[in-house]
Amino acid sequence: MSSGQVNNIGIGVHPPRSACDDENCPFHGSLRVRGIILTGRVYKKLMKKAVVVERVTTQFVRKYKRYMRKRSRISAHLPPCIGVEVGDMVRIAETRPISKTISFVVIENLGRGGENV
Ligand SMILES: [Zn+2]
Repeated sequence: MSSGQVNNIGIGVHPPRSACDDENCPFHGSLRVRGIILTGRVYKKLMKKAVVVERVTTQFVRKYKRYMRKRSRISAHLPPCIGVEVGDMVRIAETRPISKTISFVVIENLGRGGENV
């Protein structure tokens, strides 16, 4: 894919302002996104273009008539054109498996607002 051109990934998100030459970037590479889109908070930045995103959800427990907080962590690929810091909310989209544990890619940085959007 030619650089300098931003692909339409089929999801209504703001494309990143900077460009990159990462093949596994949905905007500037040849990676296709399909499947589910999730929102979570960056828990950890890994060394090689990857982040761990933590999602906090609630599940109703019938026996106690209360909600239980559940957490799940998902490893996601981080294209170099999207800058994130630990604590940022990000939107991740499902894609083909990039490595053993990574089949999501960060598509948008939503900033720091909100406890669990
Ligand atoms: Zn890119």
